[in-house]
Amino acid sequence: MGAVTIRDVRKSYGNVEVLHGVSIDINDGEFVILVGPSGCGKSTLLRMIAGLEDITDGDIAIGGIVVNDLAPKDRDIAMVFQSYALYPHMTVEENMAFSLKLGRVPRDEIKQRVASAATVLGLEPYLQRYPRHLSGGQRQRVAMGRAIVRNPQLFLFDEPLSNLDAKLRVQMRSEIKLNHQRLKTTTVYVTHDQIEAMTMADRIVVMHSGHIEQMGTPLELYDQP
Ligand code: ADP
Ligand code: ADP
Repeated sequence: MGAVTIRDVRKSYGNVEVLHGVSIDINDGEFVILVGPSGCGKSTLLRMIAGLEDITDGDIAIGGIVVNDLAPKDRDIAMVFQSYALYPHMTVEENMAFSLKLGRVPRDEIKQRVASAATVLGLEPYLQRYPRHLSGGQRQRVAMGRAIVRNPQLFLFDEPLSNLDAKLRVQMRSEIKLNHQRLKTTTVYVTHDQIEAMTMADRIVVMHSGHIEQMGTPLELYDQP
């Protein structure tokens, strides 16, 4: 259902090719982390899966449907960025409900989905607060809550923890991993942090200069004698 197929995908900006034919098969429910040095093409690839960048060549399919020409809103995805981009004038509850209201989801169902995401994320005590009264970790949880309530086929994360301090980063890693074990939503997660990749991923894709350098489970990649 939420499987993602990336087939010979290329990206050029003007005459400069920055992704040189990347192929990845992501299984339904899999947590895949794209890792590699700054500038290697991770965000570009993620943004193409999201529909925020045109694909120069190749195909991307989500749930068996080629999405190359689909607008972001027509893809069954939810994205979490490193800047939380919460609406400052809305409470936590309103932030989480907003996209569902736009999507004309019935009120009772919105309430139920927000409540259940708040439970998963430990946000129940904060539902009536405004973002400025939350800590960085709480804001990041709200950003995740906004993705979770939509119940998408696919989560896309772009360095969601890079603005948090080291201690909170460690805590959020285990929370994200635990949430994935509960929800089993296919996830593509971008980071330049190898420890993040090792602790959370089912499979790691190591990129370098617009190529895939290595691909495998954390054990296969990092526990070699
Ligand atoms: P990150 O550090 O998350 O990879 P960057 O700071 O490199 O992000 O890029 C931020 C924004 O600038 C992105 O939207 C990216 O597409 C754009 N960008 C990055 N490199 C260039 C470039 N050489 N020319 C124009 N825009 C760029
Ligand atoms: P990463 O996410 O791994 O840091 P990016 O996907 O942001 O890498 O960038 C890959 C390459 O594409 C880099 O060389 C970057 O400068 C270039 N790039 C990204 N966005 C743009 C853009 N809008 N215009 C031109 N070049 C870009």
